[in-house]
Amino acid sequence: MNQERVLTADRVTGKLHLGHYVGTLKNRTQLQYKYDTFIMLADVQALTTHFHQPGLIRTHLREIALDYLAAGIDPERATIFVQSMIPEIAELTQFYSMFVTVNSLRHNPTIKSEAQSGGGEEMYYGFLGYPVSQAADITFCKATIIPVGEDQLPLIELTRKVVRRFNELYRPVLTLPRALVGDTPRLVGTDGSAKMSKSLGNAILLDSSREELELKMRKAVTDPSRVRKGDPGHPDICPVYAYHCCFREEGVEEIGEECRKGVIGCAECKRRAVEAIAQLLEPMAERRAHYAARPKEVDDLLMSGTSRAREIARETMLEVREAMGLDY
Ligand code: SF4
Repeated sequence: MNQERVLTADRVTGKLHLGHYVGTLKNRTQLQYKYDTFIMLADVQALTTHFHQPGLIRTHLREIALDYLAAGIDPERATIFVQSMIPEIAELTQFYSMFVTVNSLRHNPTIKSEAQSGGGEEMYYGFLGYPVSQAADITFCKATIIPVGEDQLPLIELTRKVVRRFNELYRPVLTLPRALVGDTPRLVGTDGSAKMSKSLGNAILLDSSREELELKMRKAVTDPSRVRKGDPGHPDICPVYAYHCCFREEGVEEIGEECRKGVIGCAECKRRAVEAIAQLLEPMAERRAHYAARPKEVDDLLMSGTSRAREIARETMLEVREAMGLDY
């Protein structure tokens, strides 16, 4: 295995859905065979928007862990850990915050756009500072590869600045990470929105039962210009066709053609999409059931991943404190 370390994370704000699978989870199941893969349950980061709902975060923590295991993350290969259980991350965040300017955070394009999509509410200190905390997430374990989407690049650039600044100010202790901008496609929602999102009610959860999947698909929007089966359709604007493209191994082109020629009806097309998605979700359901029946095993996995991460964090902190002259 390559010695480089990958860090990925999920904010613990809700169960994972097909959009997460297509965007990052599938990629992680492959990265774990290539790199030392760290997967962080970002419960502290979830507090930036859900600080008033700690109980919800607690529930989602285990559900997301089950989502990982169901999707094929192998706890023998990947280190799954809980952010709030690594106090060194908070310590590093504080140290870094001494030399990160408020302006660099305010003007960070990712923060700006996230703040706008949050409805322009008053910005909390923790939210404004979360890129600093993210720099701590990445550097405590000296991760060098951070898989991200294009929109997250400014955050990685900020981490790189933190690393350079720290190494110049004190001693070259921190490792410079790089973004791995992969093919992280966005999956459209069942309502046709550009992004699948649980809060919009347009998501197909990874733990959906067959009935839930069928119901979601029945309600999914299609090309509105198709009234009757014989009407020529436009698959490129139809979410159901997007699901065929993502989850069907073969025959995607043919379905597109049948739609364009008005040969296939939307009900039949949706039925086939359900079959394709079910082929992904059914093996996941089996793995989920295995772990769901063994909650102690899941807790033990999380604790052993967290204790491995903590060990590395302690080593990094010794170096950091020594470099800063705080090793009293
Ligand atoms: Fe969408 Fe399929 Fe209907 Fe075409 S036939 S509009 S791709 S659901």
